[in-house]
Amino acid sequence: MTINYIDHYVAGQRISGDSSRAQPVYNPATGQVTGQVRLASQTDVKGAVAAAKAAFPAWAAMPPLHRARLMNNFLQLVRANKEKLAHAITAEHGKVFTDACGEVERGIDIIEFACGIPQLLKGDYTEQVSTGIDNWTTRQPLGVVAGITPFNFPVMVPMWMFPVAIAAGNTFILKPSPTDPTPSLLYADLMKEAGFPDGVFNVVQGDKEAVDALLAHPDVHALSFVGSTPIANYIYETGAHFGKRVQALGGAKNHMLVMPDADLDKTIDALMGAAYGSAGERCMAISVAVLVGDVADKIIPELAVRARNLKIKNGTELDAEMGPIVTAAAQQRITTYIEKGIEEGATLVVDGRGYQVDGHEGGFWLGGTLFDHVTPDMTIYKEEIFGPVLVCVRAKDFAEGLELINNHEFGNGVSLFTRDGNIAREFGRHVQVGMVGINVPIPVPMAWHGFGGWKKSLFGDMHAYGEEGVRFYTKQKSIMQRWPESIAKGAEFTMPVSQ
Ligand code: NAD
Repeated sequence: MTINYIDHYVAGQRISGDSSRAQPVYNPATGQVTGQVRLASQTDVKGAVAAAKAAFPAWAAMPPLHRARLMNNFLQLVRANKEKLAHAITAEHGKVFTDACGEVERGIDIIEFACGIPQLLKGDYTEQVSTGIDNWTTRQPLGVVAGITPFNFPVMVPMWMFPVAIAAGNTFILKPSPTDPTPSLLYADLMKEAGFPDGVFNVVQGDKEAVDALLAHPDVHALSFVGSTPIANYIYETGAHFGKRVQALGGAKNHMLVMPDADLDKTIDALMGAAYGSAGERCMAISVAVLVGDVADKIIPELAVRARNLKIKNGTELDAEMGPIVTAAAQQRITTYIEKGIEEGATLVVDGRGYQVDGHEGGFWLGGTLFDHVTPDMTIYKEEIFGPVLVCVRAKDFAEGLELINNHEFGNGVSLFTRDGNIAREFGRHVQVGMVGINVPIPVPMAWHGFGGWKKSLFGDMHAYGEEGVRFYTKQKSIMQRWPESIAKGAEFTMPVSQ
């Protein structure tokens, strides 16, 4: 039997690299191994960095308008291959095909944004800062930059990074999650087809060994990371130690605060999609419902019925609402959290353990799970579960709910459901969270706004994509200029001032 190896992509070629290490890739709906992903060695990483470094000078010198035209070619190709990319996501991640199409669509938004790079790189200029002297500011690319990405968005999250970095004139190395690596090779091929020179976009498959090699390599100037908080923290500290620019987006525990005046039917719809969509494996999933006053008694019975009746199937089936969990290990981790919730005294209203799908007995299944009477001291409230588990906390009023959210260590996304404009305004002003939705359950900012949480959900001071992304991947240079005709004669020993 021939093994389907998922290779690296360096200098425009798929390569097997120097390392003999590999790990299995699964279809989570069947539990079958579908391939073996290569795990790069330090030598493989050095090869990719050398290729990206060699491509950098010519790429950085290309006029931004020409870079944007290539990005526009890529945009058209990704659009044309949207379904192929979405199938590749479903096959290794498990999320339902319709959701995978949405993921690719949100990646396309960023490519479209990156096509505006000539405008985004436009500097500023002051004529006559002093007599005969002008001063202007320009932004220049950093060099070789790298992105390290999580399993849960194998297309969208890398596209938060590389279209912006490359359009800005950098060359890029992607280290995707080894759990679902195949999409990275599909869009590497599309980058080549779009006309990007070899070495501008490279993919190194791998694990900690590849990440550590990127962190320590002196020719990698910036690292963008998205993943869990402990690794984000490690990347931030280690990257800083090696003198690199780092943005490291971490985990989450996103709350939805529901006020008694909210439209409760719409709130239930919103909670169902936001808690159980993509099996809760989204960094913007709602995992805590904070139910104010009598809201809990009004909505929990209906939520329970809906959670029990979720259509959980192989994600390739078009009416599936939820697919499998990504790996057997993740399924076990989530199950352990459910056991912990029971042990610590929460009320298990709907139990997703032991869920099976006919004909898919080897798959990594869990049903939608719902807990009530959860309190802030419980593990299932404090920690990120990253699965289809919604925990409900009861609060007496708005102030108590807001305080609860602000006391949580994560601050990625949050949502408020209400009809009261003043409550909405107070919430927006005072909540200690980076991305806020008012009657919007998953407020993932659009391409030109930038994505990022607060507190333990983001290490570093710049958000991903948007204008913050452009700033992250460029450095500012200020140029001051005059011509001999306007130079006064004689040495000046005092601090120059405007004259
Ligand atoms: P993860 O932290 O396990 O892995 C992320 C990346 O880091 C992968 O490429 C992985 O290979 C690498 N990695 C793993 N362990 C490492 C180690 N010890 N040293 C160096 N590199 C290592 O995360 P995951 O399980 O792939 O993804 C889920 C997590 O990502 C969740 O916590 C979720 O909240 C988070 N996430 C956050 C955002 C955000 O924008 N804040 C977006 C998506 C996912």
